[in-house]
Amino acid sequence: MPAALNHPFDLSGRAAIVTGANTGIGQAIAVALAQAGADVACVGRTAAEETAAQIRALGRRAAVIHADLAKIEPVGRVVAETLDALGRLDILVNNAGIIRRADAVDFTEEDWDAVIDTNLKSVFFLSQAAGRHMIAAGGGRIINIASMLTFQGGIRVPSYTAAKSGVGGLTKLLANEWAKHNVTVNAIAPGYIATSNTAALQADPERNRAIVERIPAGRWGAPADLGGAAVFLASDAAAYVQGHVLAVDGGWLAR
Ligand code: NDP
Repeated sequence: MPAALNHPFDLSGRAAIVTGANTGIGQAIAVALAQAGADVACVGRTAAEETAAQIRALGRRAAVIHADLAKIEPVGRVVAETLDALGRLDILVNNAGIIRRADAVDFTEEDWDAVIDTNLKSVFFLSQAAGRHMIAAGGGRIINIASMLTFQGGIRVPSYTAAKSGVGGLTKLLANEWAKHNVTVNAIAPGYIATSNTAALQADPERNRAIVERIPAGRWGAPADLGGAAVFLASDAAAYVQGHVLAVDGGWLAR
């Protein structure tokens, strides 16, 4: 029998942090990383016990870490608790995010700060805390969840657009600074994905129809549609992919 080749997407022996892992895209990515072999720390405001149970059912280790990432105070603790629970940290997925909708002329400072703090400031400072560890450890993978609004303007979501386009810029900056340390920093830009974040759009028949008609694939994405891109970017197969924002959008941006 020839010796088995290591599968290029095998994440066995690696440990990941996924933020906002209790539901939606974060939950799907946490489970996909575990299916590929990784142990996963599930971080968020709401304890991700159900996600952790799915990961353990796959034979992987899971940790549940409670943290409000709208503040930067917990980021050091999140990394420390991951190292305590899983013994290492190889992969960070910055997924936690919120959206606030209002016309630009009416948009409030509260809605501005809430989205920027959660979707942009925490991405930088958690990456900084994880990146310091990865650089010292000899390498790692950071994957930021961006958006189509990393590339487009959108409408009635000014702080979300500013945050997500900022995530695209930060992805490139951190890739530039940390490539020499064997830390890759990339992003995934989901299209319209059916989660609680988009429930109001799905529930509005007129808007739902307009969205589906505009998507070349002719359907909403499912959270699980993001899993393969995350596993790829976390894996050895993506060792030379740096500063890239990978759209997973059913062709939305191609149109
Ligand atoms: P959900 O609303 O389903 O999930 C968001 C997650 O983020 C939840 O786990 C939530 O935890 C967590 N979260 C929010 N605020 C905080 C906070 N302050 N501290 C810690 N965790 C927090 O959204 P999606 O799964 O749809 O979105 C996930 C990511 O994907 C977001 O960054 C979003 O912007 C992005 N995205 C989504 C798209 C879509 O169509 N769905 C399209 C493009 C991008 P809790 O439940 O405790 O609040």
